[in-house]
Amino acid sequence: MSHPLSVEITMPNGIEYVQPTGLFINGEFVPSISGKTFPVIDPSTEEVITEVYEGFAEDIDIAVNAAEEAFENTDWATCDPIKRTKLLSKLADAIEDNMETLASIETMDNGKTIKLSRSDIQLVADYIRSTAGWCDKIYGTVIDTGSSYFTYTKREPLGVCGQIIPWNFPALMMAWKIAPALATGNTVVIKTAESTPLSALYIAQLAKDVGFPPGVLNVISGFGPTAGAAITLHPKIRKVDFTGSTATGRIIMRNAAESNLKKVTLELGGKSPNIVFDDADIKKAVKNISFGIFYNSGEVCCAGSRVYVQEGVYDEVLEEFKKDAAAVKVGDPFDETVFQGAQTSQMQVDKILDYVKLGQAEGATLVTGGERIEGKGYFIKPTIFSDVDEEMRIVKEEIFGPVVTVTKFSTVDEVVEMANNSEYGLAAGLHTNDINKAIDVSNRLKSGTIWVNTYNSLQYNTPFGGMKQSGFDKDSGKEALDNYTQVKAVRMKIIPSNK
Ligand code: NAD
Repeated sequence: MSHPLSVEITMPNGIEYVQPTGLFINGEFVPSISGKTFPVIDPSTEEVITEVYEGFAEDIDIAVNAAEEAFENTDWATCDPIKRTKLLSKLADAIEDNMETLASIETMDNGKTIKLSRSDIQLVADYIRSTAGWCDKIYGTVIDTGSSYFTYTKREPLGVCGQIIPWNFPALMMAWKIAPALATGNTVVIKTAESTPLSALYIAQLAKDVGFPPGVLNVISGFGPTAGAAITLHPKIRKVDFTGSTATGRIIMRNAAESNLKKVTLELGGKSPNIVFDDADIKKAVKNISFGIFYNSGEVCCAGSRVYVQEGVYDEVLEEFKKDAAAVKVGDPFDETVFQGAQTSQMQVDKILDYVKLGQAEGATLVTGGERIEGKGYFIKPTIFSDVDEEMRIVKEEIFGPVVTVTKFSTVDEVVEMANNSEYGLAAGLHTNDINKAIDVSNRLKSGTIWVNTYNSLQYNTPFGGMKQSGFDKDSGKEALDNYTQVKAVRMKIIPSNK
């Protein structure tokens, strides 16, 4: 018997809802051509929540054709842009109206705490609403090329855009991708991460309910090497926008080049430094370095996973940080008092614990944590390493869990050099009460985002994206719109008129 296209689910907090399970293609939820499904696991209980349909290349092809039809043969790209503003605004409203359901889906599917899911979903709604306001403010320019010519530029959409997202912020990553693409008149085929497909399917249902035309938004659940690769290789997709690991980013770019030279945007991994200077407000700085790494269970691309502390306050900061980490409440993500929920999958747990073993083998001191919490669910204790050196793999490689290294430094020059000694360049934090130092060090750090006396502070109208091997182009903010338009120059000869 084939799997139903929607299932009734009662979530651990008692909220009941209808979860779509099909692929969302051409405005309908449909089974995959193969009929294959895969299970979605609740990482807090390790139980199967539901099965969802799994997309392959043949399903991507159907979705791309629907998206192409919507782009070429409807007025989606050419209409008065206020129409897109209205639809995106309605979607933002619908998301806000369904806040508690969507936040609960995210918590059940990803394992992040319900409080954090609520703030994610609020950011989703705010970002889509903010982007809706840009639809009718995409301008070209008139260029003065002398009186014999009239020359102007206009920004046009690209066509069908393929998007591939990770599992750590499933709804937010979807919003960051689809909103700027749709606002500028493109159509979209988005593939969600295999471990967290649920919130995107629910948002697709909301998009249908508020009246998005068929084919404009297509959402495919599936795996990277099959459905993901089919997006990167598809000859009709004009752009691929990817968030995920640097290793996969390399494959994406290669496939884009070898198929049809798709435009590429990459938001990749990080190993971000978080610096505490002697003159910082130590209490607040410790809160920020703790939030910087343990927020979202450390499954954050911009996590402050390398902490650097100036020698005058090193002992005090390490002691306070240790106390703070040991006091972090880890467990049931639906418990309103819990700060750190579950890791997303068994695979992540294994990877994180392997890094803990590696850190010990490399000679670092395990200050606190380093263990899985016994029982059901993928829970790991907040973990701090000290006595590290810059060449250790736990300092160099992205762990993507609640594991942080702490290093002592003496001078500004020394810490800037250590902070920049990475192939990643996604984010950085610094804590100081000296405004001159804050600006000088911000100038010298090679990272796409710098947080001063705060950390992991995402804002819907602020661009986000990396330098070096953390990727290129920006998500969020006005800058994200530039990824989805291309400039056309029109040059018109003017004949002097006598009559
Ligand atoms: P991943 O690269 O394994 O997977 C990301 C997505 O790519 C998934 O949807 C996956 O199915 C797909 N994928 C995998 N192989 C593919 C292939 N060969 N072709 C096409 N698609 C493929 O990353 P992950 O483990 O899901 O996510 C964690 C990574 O994402 C971390 O490195 C993290 O730093 C990064 N990340 C970056 C940002 C950012 O904005 N820079 C944000 C969130 C996460």
